[in-house]
Amino acid sequence: MHIPSLIEKKRDGHALTPDEIKVLITDFTFGDVPDYQMSAWAMAVFFRGMTSAETRHLTEAMMDSGRVFKYPKNAPPKIDKHSTGGVGDKVSLVLAPLLACDDAWVPMISDRGLGITGGTLDKLESIPGFNVNLDEKRALKQLDKIGVFMIGQTEDVCPADKKLYALRDVSGTVPSQPLIVASIMSKKLAENLDRLVLDVKFGSGAFMKTNKQAEQLAAAMTEVGESMGVKTSYLLSPMDEPLGHAVGNALEVAECVEILQGAGPPDVVKLILDLAAKVSDTPRPKLEQRLKDGSAWKKFVALVYAQDGDATALEKMAEIHRAPVIEPLRTKTAGRVRKMNADLIGRASLLLGAGRQKAGDSIDFAVGLSGIKKVGEHVDLNEPLLTIHAHDKASLRFVRAMVNKAIAIA
Ligand code: URA
Repeated sequence: MHIPSLIEKKRDGHALTPDEIKVLITDFTFGDVPDYQMSAWAMAVFFRGMTSAETRHLTEAMMDSGRVFKYPKNAPPKIDKHSTGGVGDKVSLVLAPLLACDDAWVPMISDRGLGITGGTLDKLESIPGFNVNLDEKRALKQLDKIGVFMIGQTEDVCPADKKLYALRDVSGTVPSQPLIVASIMSKKLAENLDRLVLDVKFGSGAFMKTNKQAEQLAAAMTEVGESMGVKTSYLLSPMDEPLGHAVGNALEVAECVEILQGAGPPDVVKLILDLAAKVSDTPRPKLEQRLKDGSAWKKFVALVYAQDGDATALEKMAEIHRAPVIEPLRTKTAGRVRKMNADLIGRASLLLGAGRQKAGDSIDFAVGLSGIKKVGEHVDLNEPLLTIHAHDKASLRFVRAMVNKAIAIA
């Protein structure tokens, strides 16, 4: 196939056929379409968009560029969730073991954090020894034994997405809806799921800034999932303030432990139950009970052990990962928390070292923000609005000024 003609066809606003998309993606995966041609094509998609049929064919071609998980014939239903990412979003760490308390398998492939949104894999790796790099054989054995695994994308899952995402990242073509849909859904569909729930976030701390954009993205992802035989539902959730009270890897794991032990911040617990109720066959009160009675906690401990982690560390994450400088940020006036800028809070956490400014950067598990007040909460004069966990005094000072701007008291 003549690749320049495919680029021109998209540039001129025409739809590519399933065959054309398949060849483009297959040849790109094998290195027969050079990066400059693929980047030009991605830019054409950015400006011209794709029909829903094209988006579906692109997703399918990307999924087929690598391995699709296979399960035994009588395996229970396979279920999972995907979040478009937010500040303090620790939902997966609780939701995966909770769902696995059912007669269901949860084959969760997650991402690392990039930019202001944290990543499940980084949070898991703050648990000493936790191994997110299981091969398929070991992962499937673990599913059979405890019903859940939480791993990173392996080399052979959606290699086309890996290559294309890297190009998009440096060619200004990340924010293209069809490319986002195909990228996210190809990886989820490679898990060969029966049911999927999508947590699509909107607001200052999310990828999608408005409810309308989030709704459009959710509808497009749902259409692709359903058309490929996966029962797909979605939830739109606001991301104008961080989820829960903690942002930062070990700090967030500690918050998850609280939730798994029947307590934790109500906003995170509610979101977990809302998502679980959408994808699980179990009634919501029973799901809630599993958070309260220790069933989900036991499942999480089993998961940590199964993936080489030290589960005895879970209840002392704050001691294991203690940042050298820990200081509260106190209010200068009494009142109610009127507004919280999740984007700035996420940026502060990133600058403290909890996230990566570019792929491959190392991260500091101990740093971040804890005890973050929620919008609507009353604060007294001189009361801590949050606590900063920093690597040194200089980063503390820098971030202090930033988070001061992120919180408005009425
Ligand atoms: N996450 C992905 O995996 N891909 C995108 O394109 C955007 C977010």
